[in-house]
Amino acid sequence: MHINSLGALPSNRVDSPVTTADLRINPLVLLVDDDPTGQLMASEALEAEGFDVIEAVDGVEAVQLFAQHKPDIVVMDVVMPRMDGFAACAQIRQSAAGKHVPVLMVTGLNDIDSIKKAYEFGATDFVTKPINFFTLPYRVHYMIRAKATADELRESRAKLDKAQRIAKLGHWEWQTQDDQCLWSAECARILNVSKLGNTLHTLIECIHADDQVMVNALLERTKIDSQRFSTKFRTRTDNADRSRIIQVEAEPDSTGTMVGTLQDITERANAEEQIHNLAYFDLVTGLPNRANLNDMVDNAITKARIGNKKFALLFLDLDRFKQVNDSFGHNVGDALLRSVSTRLGEVIRETDCVGQIDDSVAAIRPPDKIARLGGDEFVVLLDSIERVEDAAYVARRICKSLAKTFQLSETDVHISTTIGISIYPADGKTPDELLKHADVAMYHAKEQGRNCYHFYSQSIHKLSLERFALERDLRESLESGGFHLEYQPKISIRTGDITGVEALVRWEHPTRGRVSPADFIPLAEETGLILPLGEWVLRTACQQMAEWIECGIQPFVMAVNCSSIQLVRTDMTNVIKSALDATGLDPTCLEIELTESLLLQNVEEGIAILQALKSLGLHVSIDDFGTGFSSLSYLKRLPVDKLKIDQSFIRDLNTDPGDAAIVTSMITLAHNLDLTVIAEGVENTEQLGFLRANRCDEIQGFLISRPQPADDLQQWIERFNSQLTDKAA
Ligand code: C2E
Ligand code: MG
Ligand code: MG
Repeated sequence: MHINSLGALPSNRVDSPVTTADLRINPLVLLVDDDPTGQLMASEALEAEGFDVIEAVDGVEAVQLFAQHKPDIVVMDVVMPRMDGFAACAQIRQSAAGKHVPVLMVTGLNDIDSIKKAYEFGATDFVTKPINFFTLPYRVHYMIRAKATADELRESRAKLDKAQRIAKLGHWEWQTQDDQCLWSAECARILNVSKLGNTLHTLIECIHADDQVMVNALLERTKIDSQRFSTKFRTRTDNADRSRIIQVEAEPDSTGTMVGTLQDITERANAEEQIHNLAYFDLVTGLPNRANLNDMVDNAITKARIGNKKFALLFLDLDRFKQVNDSFGHNVGDALLRSVSTRLGEVIRETDCVGQIDDSVAAIRPPDKIARLGGDEFVVLLDSIERVEDAAYVARRICKSLAKTFQLSETDVHISTTIGISIYPADGKTPDELLKHADVAMYHAKEQGRNCYHFYSQSIHKLSLERFALERDLRESLESGGFHLEYQPKISIRTGDITGVEALVRWEHPTRGRVSPADFIPLAEETGLILPLGEWVLRTACQQMAEWIECGIQPFVMAVNCSSIQLVRTDMTNVIKSALDATGLDPTCLEIELTESLLLQNVEEGIAILQALKSLGLHVSIDDFGTGFSSLSYLKRLPVDKLKIDQSFIRDLNTDPGDAAIVTSMITLAHNLDLTVIAEGVENTEQLGFLRANRCDEIQGFLISRPQPADDLQQWIERFNSQLTDKAA
């Protein structure tokens, strides 16, 4: 037996990083043959070509030597005593070192059975006897090289598998034509299933129901265009607590097969979300932070610029927050900040649905419009406000809400807040400018004694103060009975009879004097004061009408203006019913005048409300007709009795052919729909002449009478009726 110069070689190439086998200079061949002559010739031929050789005479010895030396190749005869080549080959293959070692079997010439059997027992190749000892070393060289290549391939595949497992990455192939798929083992692990089938359906089944449609659509498109794609989906949660997030990348290869990867990116996506949250949200309150606010304001600027709108930034600073922190500790301080953020959300939500119902403030949606800048500073973004006073309105509500006691872990905490307001675009065109100016305004407010707000612009500030003074006076007058009604008659053009009167509310203020309804009705609507005011008007008018009827004044109809807010926010049917009950007025003597705006907002709801009103037996008219309707097709469906042509069309009736044409069309339209039509704001006989000629039914206006207090109107009616009687006589 020939042993190479390193002597016995306990080596295991696979298990240890550097082995004696690696240190071998020459490749080691285990030569197994019971024929000493053949053995000698083969070993000499191999050694002459630079191999080291160890020799065994039968299978048993071959297995022992293999285990001991772990040679690079085995050249083994088939027929041997004790243990033949097949059995020895099979045993070598069972050992870790022998799994992939090249085994060259020496078979008899034309011994096809042995050749077949050799393969079955794991031989790598065969050579037939008589051996060509000249070419044998080359053959052995080739086999060792092929094994080295195979080893490298196996090693790199193992590394790849390991890397993919670590990266939670699987790969797949998809023949789009016949929908056949191949998946790497990792794919099933990623998708949390034991096995994946060979069509795409198997993948779809693993996808979260909410993402299936999206992925399906993408795959269907890929079937058609075979284009690269990249997408993400969540896995189903049937067998797991939580969905995993899977990233899919795919592109077509040269044959059109889609090849791609699946990667579980849950941890990364979660980390990204966490990083995003840390970067964009305040840890204490969970509100957007300064960086986030900057983006929010940037977006608001873009939106406002495109829509030619305004928006407001409210910069809040909590008064005496430092004292809270110092006296109660930071935990209470943090709890207070969280409660403040909750209250801010509530105020804005309330403002949204109670305070004002115009679109401007209805557009505010908490809490993404509230940010915390740090410390005790918060910012509220009010986008799409119509009037700057809306911002003041919200600021006041905030001050009021935050001034209420906070109960924090059994401690009662009192604070107040001071607010600075900047308006886009008047007070700045960039987030920085707007924020800076809101901050400056906040300092002005602090100078003025905290728990208040201040606009950056003086003129806006003045305006908002006026508005609130008006609101305060309105409230006081409502309580102290500072309102009264005037009544304006309506006349039938055909008969000249009084058909009705319209009740119009009047406000005489001790210092302001008479305030026009055009100025205070919108404010009453915004502040909700229209509800008690409207109810008072309704009752007073019904009461008056009942009294007139009792005095024997010929029954006519009392028209009461009703704001859309009353219809939306109260159960008007009940309010009217109780006014009728309380005054004993016959419902047919009552008419409700509504403007078009409400009916347009939600036609179906408008129809339902009108039907409910009509079911009481009263009349309904559309006031200021022509100023708002976008579609006449709705008009047809509205259960109303009368159209009041807006006075803006009457004013220049005799000089503006356009107005004349509109009025004529309105009259025709009303008649076609079987409605009575009345013109309001009729001031001269020319207008009356035109309306008469065009068969308008009724008129109302200074030509007949200005609105008058009840007693005056009663005398007017008596005079008017007696003149009529005189004429008739
Ligand atoms: P409106 O319901 O269209 O009322 C008609 C307005 O036109 C009244 O103004 C009336 O004084 C005025 N007017 C009447 N005839 C003439 C005329 O010949 N020429 C001119 N230039 N004006 C005329 P007023 O009283 O200032 O009321 C304005 C608006 O305020 C009303 O318009 C109505 O929308 C609202 N309003 C008045 N009272 C109430 C009320 O009690 N409730 C509600 N919700 N709104 C009311
Ligand atoms: Mg009216
Ligand atoms: Mg009107």
